[in-house]
Amino acid sequence: MTLKRPLPLPDDQTRGFWEGCGDRELRLLCCEDCGTYIHQPAPMCHACNSTRLDWKRVSGDGALYTWVVVHQAPPAYETPYVVGWIELAEQPGLRILSNVVGCPPAKVQAGMRLRVDFQVLNDEINLPVFRPA
Ligand SMILES: [Zn+2]
Repeated sequence: MTLKRPLPLPDDQTRGFWEGCGDRELRLLCCEDCGTYIHQPAPMCHACNSTRLDWKRVSGDGALYTWVVVHQAPPAYETPYVVGWIELAEQPGLRILSNVVGCPPAKVQAGMRLRVDFQVLNDEINLPVFRPA
């Protein structure tokens, strides 16, 4: 028996994010009133309380804020792998939790420049990951 990794289940609040990933674009909610990006997706802007939010493509460029190297995981995951908070270029404090790939875990460094890439998990889900830029 092969164990499969759990897949994201897009809902009304996250569908725009996953549709962007399907188009190989990183899209985040952006406030139409004050221009603040919001991630994780939420129904209201945390800067001005506006509910006028829309999906907007971001560059996918960022820097590694912090990370862990996972050595023990369920059988569906190949270890070791790196999970990190990536601070995106668009806004101080705008961070996304993702995998850092294309770099041996021992070479991962705080502040390293990263760029989004997408792993195809199935016909509906592309998973955003980050590679050294
Ligand atoms: Zn706002």
